[in-house]
Amino acid sequence: MKRYFALMMLCGMLAACTTTQKSTGIGTVAGATIGGIIGHQSGKGGEGAAIGAAVGGVGGYIAGEKMGQKKFCPVGGEVFDESVQYCPTHGVELKYQTK
Ligand SMILES: [Zn+2]
Repeated sequence: MKRYFALMMLCGMLAACTTTQKSTGIGTVAGATIGGIIGHQSGKGGEGAAIGAAVGGVGGYIAGEKMGQKKFCPVGGEVFDESVQYCPTHGVELKYQTK
């Protein structure tokens, strides 16, 4: 469990990982932190952190799925991240890809 968690953390930091994996990592860390606080207050720190990590991981995964939506250039067809608004080559507004 500890090893798996460390892997997730590492994965979240690697640029090679997809947005979904990154968000899952962030969600897991946030969940573990919140869970740790809740667990600490109820006197079960470890348990709370584990529950928080599980919940945060799932939440982060869902958020990552939404964030992972891609945009494409209607002129050249290049694919960009959702964060990009205009095509740097053609200067036109990017459209969302429909699955
Ligand atoms: Zn373009």
